[in-house]
Amino acid sequence: MSSSEKLLADVDAYCRELRPIEELCYVEHRYNEQTVELAKKYNLLGMPLPVELGGRGADSVTYARALARIGREGTGVRTFFSGQTSIGQYPIFRYGNADQHARYLPASCRGEKILAFGLTEPDAGSNPLEMTSTYRKTRDGYLLNGVKYLISNGGICDAVVCFAYPEDKSGNGRMSAFIVDAVGESFEVEDLHAKPGMFSANTGMFQMTDHPVPLENMLGEEGNGFRIAMGTLVSGRLSVAAGCLGVIEDCLAEALQYSQERVQHGKPIAKHQLVQEHLAMIEMDRAASDALIERAAQAKAASDAAPGDATLAADADMAVAKAKFFATNAAWDAADRAVQVYGGRGWSELYRVGRHLQDVRVCRIYEGTDEIMKLKIAQSLLGREFSAFS
Ligand SMILES: Cc1cc2nc3c(=O)[nH]c(=O)nc-3n(C[C@H](O)[C@H](O)[C@H](O)COP(=O)(O)OP(=O)(O)OC[C@H]3O[C@@H](n4cnc5c(N)ncnc54)[C@H](O)[C@@H]3O)c2cc1C
Repeated sequence: MSSSEKLLADVDAYCRELRPIEELCYVEHRYNEQTVELAKKYNLLGMPLPVELGGRGADSVTYARALARIGREGTGVRTFFSGQTSIGQYPIFRYGNADQHARYLPASCRGEKILAFGLTEPDAGSNPLEMTSTYRKTRDGYLLNGVKYLISNGGICDAVVCFAYPEDKSGNGRMSAFIVDAVGESFEVEDLHAKPGMFSANTGMFQMTDHPVPLENMLGEEGNGFRIAMGTLVSGRLSVAAGCLGVIEDCLAEALQYSQERVQHGKPIAKHQLVQEHLAMIEMDRAASDALIERAAQAKAASDAAPGDATLAADADMAVAKAKFFATNAAWDAADRAVQVYGGRGWSELYRVGRHLQDVRVCRIYEGTDEIMKLKIAQSLLGREFSAFS
């Protein structure tokens, strides 16, 4: 068995063990602590990181397949992994130095440090440049001030990759990235419970008030925060797309089984042509998403292997944006059709298809909305001079 096959087998075993616990937590609307505990047991908390740092050394395609498998268990479970790995560990690994790797990555792979990514603020979502968080340099570090809102794992994280502008507008006034330890009274956390899905996953917000960050926790060069944020979002978007493929696969499996068992008008509903249309369209959602995600994962792998190559980076950025836009909408369509196949039972949190429909809607919003993905794709066709962002 290759290391990729072993990892995917471990992911499958993890998902099987997690499923009954996840279903119970979901219907009881409570956070599922076993998402992390079982991930420790199966060593899944740093899948794409090198083995030397405690990870499993998965390539982009294998990691995407792992996230698709996890996505079948629910978008909430997959979102935890995106927060921990795709947008938590990724920027530390990609832009951090050896000391930062050593202090954060092995511990995060062991589950001793849960990670998050803090870009969004109450008044800065689609345009993170409008953020108002600031940092002030002191003799031995930085003091951060600001509020980060709608952060996956935000209420359970031990450290968060955070972005802020220099208070004194020094260094061209550009934003920088920091690894912020989520500790002390200057870091106040609140869980966000008023959401129409993903009940078993954590979404939080936090406020930093003169929150101290050591000098050695600036990530990358000062003023380079926006580039780090945008690079990280490529990783995050691919994880969302891959998770949505899993949602589609699960909706297809559920709709196929139910439609063959449920009898109306004297025959299994799978024999009604209009029900077959739903099954065929979910399969098309699956096949097309799968192809786009595979292509995007390969483009990302090529870009990661040549970090200085701007052409490969642009290719990966675009392939991932297309995969994210398509797969998130396809998953929404698949969940909607699967609920239709289930009829009244489908419109319920007691069934997997109803839970997928509630959860997957957010995938068209976070890590770049539908609209932002469309504008990126159109800009790549028209050229920068037609950018709708300027
Ligand atoms: C459950 C959940 C988890 C999240 N996790 C994280 C996380 O871990 N880390 C993090 O940093 N953020 C996270 N987010 C935040 C998420 O990335 C933002 O919600 C998203 O980027 C959109 O920002 P916004 O909500 O402020 O909407 P807005 O930016 O206010 O957009 C509102 C609407 O206007 C549209 N719009 C905005 N600008 C344009 C434009 N130029 N052209 C056309 N339409 C436009 C948008 O597409 C959208 O339809 C999360 C959000 C949710 C709901």
